[in-house]
Amino acid sequence: MRYIEPHAHMVSRVTDDYQDMVTSGCQAVCEPAFWAGFDRSSAEGFRDYFAQLTEHEPKRAAKFGLPHFCWLCINPKESEDVKLAEEVLALIPRFLERPSVLGIGEIGLNKNSRNELKVLERHVDLAARCDQLILVHTPHLEDKFKGTRLTLDALRGDRRIRPERCIIDHVEEHTVRMVLDAGFWAGMTLYPETKCTPARAIDILDRYGQERLWLNSACDWGVSVPLSVPRTALEMRRRGYSAERIDQIVYQNPRAFLSQCPKFHLAS
Ligand SMILES: [Zn+2]
Repeated sequence: MRYIEPHAHMVSRVTDDYQDMVTSGCQAVCEPAFWAGFDRSSAEGFRDYFAQLTEHEPKRAAKFGLPHFCWLCINPKESEDVKLAEEVLALIPRFLERPSVLGIGEIGLNKNSRNELKVLERHVDLAARCDQLILVHTPHLEDKFKGTRLTLDALRGDRRIRPERCIIDHVEEHTVRMVLDAGFWAGMTLYPETKCTPARAIDILDRYGQERLWLNSACDWGVSVPLSVPRTALEMRRRGYSAERIDQIVYQNPRAFLSQCPKFHLAS
């Protein structure tokens, strides 16, 4: 089996996870910038984090022959502090030129607040000005439908943004259709309980097909499973999916989206 892990917070994971992913056929891992589990006290904390994502983590992954890429932003949870967000946004352009940076993400909304929306629009503007791909986090549970709608409106409101260059992540049964119908890519996050379980994700694939869809583990410092993509591939096989169709979903689809950034490449 071969697969791409398009969304994993490896700074929170142990070295064994890298070994297990490579052993399972992982060809590349991509790490969106994220909340650390606590609020950072200043923009300097983000400067260090961006250095970790663009310098240290690619080296750690390279020890196992795994290409590591990242996305940069201030996450929605910390975007409530607009002054901090402005300072972090000002830091990002100097990092965008680095060889493993794929774009702006994971941006989006958490509580769907006015300040979060303002900072989301600033990120979208930065992506448009710097011709970057966009990776969007959508809120959890009861805020998800409204948050997804607000996010799509913000993206569609900027005429410079092309939907085929944006992935809307953490879609579920009630949000996947509006994302795909609007021409965006959709990501399904495989968590043991919340977001999409493997069984629910495969139900969605049964229903919507596999065009412009990818799977990810979004493994981080919380309850999450770094091997959830290959494990879901096994479950797809059990449910009668052909090897070609599984390869399309876990390898070819993420490769097609991510290759829109010329810096993206796979394990040689
Ligand atoms: Zn994430």
